[in-house]
Amino acid sequence: MTEQPSQSFTADRVRLRDALDALPAYKPGKPAPAVEGLTSYKISSNENPYPPLPSVQAAVARAAEEFNRYPDMGAAALLAGIAEHCGVESENVAVGTGSVGLLQQLVQITCEPGDEVVHAWRSFEAYPIVIGLAGARSVQVPLDAAARHDLPAMLEAITERTRLVVVCTPNNPTGPSVHTDELRDFLAQVPPEVLVVLDEAYLEFNRDEAAPDALAMVREFANTVVLRTFSKAYGLAGLRVGYAIGTPRVAEALRKAAVPFGVSQLAQDAVLASFEAGDELAERVEHLVAERTRVVEALLEQGWEIPETQANFVWLPLGDRAMEFAALAAEGGLVVRPFDGEGVRVTIGEDEANTRFLDLCARFRGQAT
Ligand SMILES: *Cc1c(COP(=O)(O)O)cnc(C)c1O
Repeated sequence: MTEQPSQSFTADRVRLRDALDALPAYKPGKPAPAVEGLTSYKISSNENPYPPLPSVQAAVARAAEEFNRYPDMGAAALLAGIAEHCGVESENVAVGTGSVGLLQQLVQITCEPGDEVVHAWRSFEAYPIVIGLAGARSVQVPLDAAARHDLPAMLEAITERTRLVVVCTPNNPTGPSVHTDELRDFLAQVPPEVLVVLDEAYLEFNRDEAAPDALAMVREFANTVVLRTFSKAYGLAGLRVGYAIGTPRVAEALRKAAVPFGVSQLAQDAVLASFEAGDELAERVEHLVAERTRVVEALLEQGWEIPETQANFVWLPLGDRAMEFAALAAEGGLVVRPFDGEGVRVTIGEDEANTRFLDLCARFRGQAT
């Protein structure tokens, strides 16, 4: 079925939208560099370091026997499984190709060109891209001195043009969670016609006692929607599936805006098998949380000043030395995620990866002083 090679392509003069010029290209984590005599580790994309569970792999292998067919378009079994898992009804649930897919749908169902989306910054780098692509405006509210969301400032940033507000908790890439009291205060003051998204991509790692019960918030405030993903704690990043929970009206709008058949049957079945394997997955998460504690305590011991993390990563606020740190890490077979001029985000990975990261941090500080 290969076509004959033809002449090379000529330059096109297609008129593309101006919005594209302003968009940063999403930078995926690079593959781990090969270093002679060292195992390399990719600790740049907040993935789960463990391979898929055998039971989940088996479910995916079974689904693979029928991938000549489209998946269940309504993803009925998946919606029901998620609804049961969360204690809501199927009509409250929408699924998408990862929670970034749902984020795109959220902007599509709320924003006309020129409308505004308020979110914290620095936060998840996909936000400005998704917002810009829809022709909406990204209104970025700086994090506070503790690298936490400044919810009062975000409230101030809401205007007549605001249609959507995104609260990322725990915040990627800095780590802190928002707290119930401040969030309830905030939600009580957001105009009811503005939709607030609680992006809980790292929910399973959050051990902050003051962290909100997001589903309770959705029940209390009808203009709230929760976004979750199977890419992080569940270890299904490569299968692209996430979900949103909101009012039936918002969930239905999200389903209308979905790419048809976007969530593959492999992904649908993998999620249901993962719910069955909940205990095994929870053990893995528990271990990663314990490793996070080990890493954070060692960093504090070394004298680093870092924000409190409730996710599966730590943030080193290195400022101008971020790129230098990342280059040094790569030499040692560790791929981390630098943000030029700001800092470096490092995923809690395999035990060995975490230990090597701590050694690197100690050496880096040694040089600095
Ligand atoms: C990783 C991440 C997501 C989820 O991405 P998927 O598209 O579900 O893989 C969403 N929000 C934040 C803040 C993230 O860090």
